[in-house]
Amino acid sequence: MLINGRCHCGNISFKLTWEPEPTEIPARACDCSFCTKHGGVWTSCNTGSLKVTVNSASLVSKYSFGTKTAQFHICTHCGVVPVVTSQIKGHTYAVVSVHAFEGVDPSLLKHASASFGEEDEEARLGRRVKNWIPNVEYIERGA
Ligand SMILES: [Zn+2]
Repeated sequence: MLINGRCHCGNISFKLTWEPEPTEIPARACDCSFCTKHGGVWTSCNTGSLKVTVNSASLVSKYSFGTKTAQFHICTHCGVVPVVTSQIKGHTYAVVSVHAFEGVDPSLLKHASASFGEEDEEARLGRRVKNWIPNVEYIERGA
């Protein structure tokens, strides 16, 4: 399944290739302090691949907090956060926001809450290596 997503203005867009074909897409409402404030709900396919395209790199804020091991890619033009990446041992992993999906049947989404606050950093990075999208191409255009 090819899932298209983008922020509201289209500055940040992505194509998520979900394979094998999903019967359902987990949608995890994260309870960290940042996701609580903007309503972050994330998904990932650990056998999939992701291509992120940024039209204007100067209009993207890469926000980190806490352990600073994840970067939230915030479109500073429209305020939407379509993607989060994490660099682990030189490799980029990612999750995407289900709110940024375009044209995906909402009945495919299986909503659940997620709480990672009790994890130490090692457990957190290990979970991302296991669960996050492992093939990420990130293309930044413009300035
Ligand atoms: Zn935008």
